Amino acid sequence: MVDKNHSDKQWGLCKDCKWWQIEPDGSRANTTMGLCIDEDLQPFQLRVSGNSGCNHFMPGEPAKARGSSEAPPVAAPTR
Ligand code: SF4
Repeated sequence: MVDKNHSDKQWGLCKDCKWWQIEPDGSRANTTMGLCIDEDLQPFQLRVSGNSGCNHFMPGEPAKARGSSEAPPVAAPTR
């Protein structure tokens, strides 16, 4: 059975999410790597591709900061 709290949220792709933070010269592509800066997920330093996704998705433009794509990411969240 699906958890109601989760099913109420909208699932979407990182490349279309405002919580995705990529390199300053990065593009919104499936293979671009970036840091997820969703407040709840920040403790995990989640490094995700444009083609990744989750149900904390919020439509918007990605944030940009140098070091967002490194493993582990070294950029601080900008939002
Ligand atoms: S992991 Fe979820 S919240 Fe984070 S950037 Fe991707 S879709 Fe957005």
